[in-house]
Amino acid sequence: MPFYTFVCNSCGKQFEVRCSVAEKDSGSVVCPGCGANELDRVFQGFSVAVKSPSPSCGQESACPRAAACGGCCGRQA
Ligand SMILES: [Zn+2]
Repeated sequence: MPFYTFVCNSCGKQFEVRCSVAEKDSGSVVCPGCGANELDRVFQGFSVAVKSPSPSCGQESACPRAAACGGCCGRQA
């Protein structure tokens, strides 16, 4: 089973959990610090096999990294 890294929305603790995708998706993974199940997945570069758009840097109109942004602003061309 893969390791997933989460950050707790409740207490801010970041931790790794070895669990199945089903367990992760069903919300049965809880924070070891406070027991909350409101967790955000932390994506770690190399292990990502997700086909999702590049995350926005939030500064699309004035991206400071426009030339070397890697595509977060859709300016890679
Ligand atoms: Zn927590």
